[in-house]
Amino acid sequence: MNAEIIAVGSELLTHQRIDTNSLFLTEELNKLGIELVAKCVVGDDRERLADAIRRAMGRSEVVILSGGLGPTEDDVTRDAAALALDRRLIFQTEVVDQMERRFRAMGRTMAEINRRQAFVIEGADMLPNDRGTAPGQWIEDAGRYLMLLPGPPGELKPMFTRQCVPRLSRVAPREVIRTLVLRVAGMPESEVDQLIAPIYTKFTNPVTTILAAANDIQVHLRARCATEAEAMQLLADAGGPIELLLGDRIYSRNGDPLEVVVGSLLKQHKTTLAVAESCTGGLLSELITAVPGSSEYFLGGLVTYSEALKIDLLGVSPEMLETHGAVSDEVAEAMAAGVRRRTGAGYALAVTGYAGPSTGAEKKPVGTVSLAVADAAGTRTVNRQILGDRERVRRFACHIAMDLLRRRMLGL
Ligand code: AMP
Ligand code: MG
Repeated sequence: MNAEIIAVGSELLTHQRIDTNSLFLTEELNKLGIELVAKCVVGDDRERLADAIRRAMGRSEVVILSGGLGPTEDDVTRDAAALALDRRLIFQTEVVDQMERRFRAMGRTMAEINRRQAFVIEGADMLPNDRGTAPGQWIEDAGRYLMLLPGPPGELKPMFTRQCVPRLSRVAPREVIRTLVLRVAGMPESEVDQLIAPIYTKFTNPVTTILAAANDIQVHLRARCATEAEAMQLLADAGGPIELLLGDRIYSRNGDPLEVVVGSLLKQHKTTLAVAESCTGGLLSELITAVPGSSEYFLGGLVTYSEALKIDLLGVSPEMLETHGAVSDEVAEAMAAGVRRRTGAGYALAVTGYAGPSTGAEKKPVGTVSLAVADAAGTRTVNRQILGDRERVRRFACHIAMDLLRRRMLGL
C-alpha cells in the first residue's frame, strides 16, 4: 500500500518554517508496512490544494493532509478536500457544542469564526481532537483513504496514533518494511558507491540509498516484504556482501552516530577521554557530551585557540610552533600528549586546523587539519585537506577525530 502526504500552509513555503509532521507520519506509516511514495507542500490556496489532492488520490491509496483546519480565512483544507472529492460540506452542530464546551472549560467564549471548524465532508468519520478545537476527518473514497489532520504537531501526533493507526492497520495489507543502516567513516561518497553499486544494483528489493554528510556516509537498505523473516533475509542477502566490502570502515549497523559508538567503546574498555581543540572551538566536546552518560568516560576538553594557551596549558614548545606552525602534525601530537598528561585520561584527541574562510598569512591552504590520538602506547597523527566552508571543515574534523579514536581503540 502506497501513501502520499500533503503538508498545507503558506508558512511552510517560506525559509522560516519547515514541515516536520511528514517525518513523524512517515515513520508511523512505515511501521504499518505502508510506503510513502511522494510528499509535497502546498500553500493556503483552495484550488491548488484541491488539484494536489486529486492527483495524489489518483496515484496512491492513502493520502494524508496536515494543516489548514483552523478557523481563519486561510484555512482551506476542508473546502479543498470537498472540492477534490466532489462532496458537500455538512455543518455538524455536535462539533460546535463540543467546541463551545471546550472554550467554556477554559473560561472563554468561542469566537464566531470557530464555527467554520464544524464543517465536515459528507460521509467522513470525525476524529476527535482533545488537544485543540479542530476535529480531524477520515474519508473513504472508492477504496482510497484520505485523512485531514490538524497542523500543530501536538495535535496531529496523538490524533494519528490513536485514530488513524488502528483504522489503517485494518485496511493495510500485511506488509513489513525493514531497514538496515550502515554508517561509514573515512571514505568519500563516490568511492563507497563505486565499491558497492555492483551489489546493490542487482536488487530491486531492498532498495539502496546512499546519504552523505561531512565524512559520514550512510548506506540505507530498505526491504518491503510480506513477512519480517523475508525482509530480514533480503537485507542479509544484499547487506552481507556490502558489509564485507566496506569492512572496518563501517562504524555502526544500527544507526548510532560515531559519538555514541566511541562512547560505548570507551565504556567497554573502562577508560577515559580528554580532548584538546583548536579550530573546532569546543565542537568536539559538544558532540561527545551530547550523548547521555558521557560523564562516565569524558573527563573534559581544553579549547586552546591561541598559541599562548597551547604553550601554557598543553606544554607545546614555542620552538615547535615557530618551526612547524600551529597547524602541523607535530603540534597536534604535542597537544594530544599534553592534554593526556594534564588530565590523566586513558585516551586523548587533538585537532588543529584552518577552518577558513580567509587564508591569512599561513602557508597551508584553508581546510588543512592535523589530528592526533594519544594513549599509553604512544601517539598517532593524521592530516587531511577538507573541502568546504568553515562549518563543514569543523564538523568534518570532529568526525575524523572520533574515527581516529575508534580505530585506535579497535587496533585497526
Ligand atoms: P494550521 O493547522 O495550518 O493552522 O497550522 C497550525 C500550526 O501548526 C502552524 O502555524 C505551524 O506552526 C504548525 N504546523 C502546520 N503544519 C506543520 C507541519 N507540516 N509541520 C510542522 N508544523 C506544522
Ligand atoms: Mg495553516
